[in-house]
Amino acid sequence: MRSRFLTAALLALALPLSASAAPSRTLVFQGGTVLDGSGGRPLKQAAVVVRDGRIESVGLAIATKVPKDAEIIDFKGQTMLPGLISDHSHVGQTSGTTTGSQNYTRENVQKQLRQFAAYGVTTVTALGMNRPLFNELREEAHADGFSGADLFGAGQGIGVPEGGPPQAMTNNAPDQVFRPTTAEEARAAVRSLKKSRVDLVKVWVDSFLGKLPKMKPDIYQAVIDESHKQGLRVAAHIHDLEDAKAVVAAGVDILAHGVRDQPVDEAFVNAMKERGVWYVPTLALDEATVLYADQPQLVDDPVLQPALSPELRAQFEDAAWRKKTLADPKAREARHALETNLANLKALYSAGVKVGFGTDSGATPLRIPGFAEHRELKLMVLAGLSPGQALAVATGNAASLLQLKDRGRIQLGMRADLFLVEGEAATHIAAVDRVVGVWRQGRKVAGRLPEAPAPAPSP
Ligand SMILES: [Zn+2]
Repeated sequence: MRSRFLTAALLALALPLSASAAPSRTLVFQGGTVLDGSGGRPLKQAAVVVRDGRIESVGLAIATKVPKDAEIIDFKGQTMLPGLISDHSHVGQTSGTTTGSQNYTRENVQKQLRQFAAYGVTTVTALGMNRPLFNELREEAHADGFSGADLFGAGQGIGVPEGGPPQAMTNNAPDQVFRPTTAEEARAAVRSLKKSRVDLVKVWVDSFLGKLPKMKPDIYQAVIDESHKQGLRVAAHIHDLEDAKAVVAAGVDILAHGVRDQPVDEAFVNAMKERGVWYVPTLALDEATVLYADQPQLVDDPVLQPALSPELRAQFEDAAWRKKTLADPKAREARHALETNLANLKALYSAGVKVGFGTDSGATPLRIPGFAEHRELKLMVLAGLSPGQALAVATGNAASLLQLKDRGRIQLGMRADLFLVEGEAATHIAAVDRVVGVWRQGRKVAGRLPEAPAPAPSP
């Protein structure tokens, strides 16, 4: 029963390799609600016309002329969102319960990008630890060659010798991270990243709760200066307020994680605003550390099914693993980090700091691509954002962070990257779990998430 269901789930994710040769055509979505990614009010009884992969018009259904030969899709009772955009994920790191360089294969990365797309995430930023294959895969993803999410990224990223990203956690190959020992080596790493045309530069600064050496200030200062010289922006991995303040003062462009050790203060809020630094909270990261041990019943959640490998399922069903996970000091640290992160997000968002969308999904097996982004949306609402605000962060804001002007909004001329869900997402964030369909440039790349198997009769 279970294996039959899993096969069906995998088939549903393995969409045909149709690609960019799809004929140009016109779609008209009629009768539902559009939440356009701007953070504005929802447009009800709307119609959206899509032609040749772009949005041709958005307006009231009653005022929309339906072009001849258009395919009409009735979306009454549903909400159309722009495809979600992750500003902080990883690809090719994990498979089943394993993490390591052996997982950085074309097949695995493409499978993960299809999994993201099945959850409505149509653009993904792989924020470091990429292998040389990344450049090819990114070009193929831009060309929309395999029905998954589009891919941007930071190439390898710049870490610390014997420090972050922790080798014991990532099992990276030497070609996945630069670990400069001098400012000159750091500048050389940036020039090398520039040559491979990365979209952003990533630095790991923090000490992983005091367990590892931090990046020295002269190193991150050199990375930031050289990146700006090369026309690149820098995203920093931080955990503590002290480090966040230091990298902001040094000119960093993006904080790739939330501040998780203590409440943010006024000086930090003001510095973020004055310098226009983006903040990506990654709430789901710390939740994931304990989520599946806290809630073993999630293995039967239909929303998780398409992303749950048999190996991961077996781990979550293992009572010894759950007990060990919850007894580990990391569990307590993660709960404190999440609680702090939620309060800090609310404070920073309310103060008008620019907030982007990311989860660190794909970095470890517990940070499950696609499912993590749905958790992040719900956690943002738990933090105190409205569902509409959380969705605007995950679409319009997330595109602005990446400086992508062709997506993140349902507006005239934008790419038709669309995420259609059952219900009113502007008031009920759980609607994102009820996926109706996902389109990339007007081409359908995913349908409804497979249903859960019927419960087995009791013996
Ligand atoms: Zn990360």
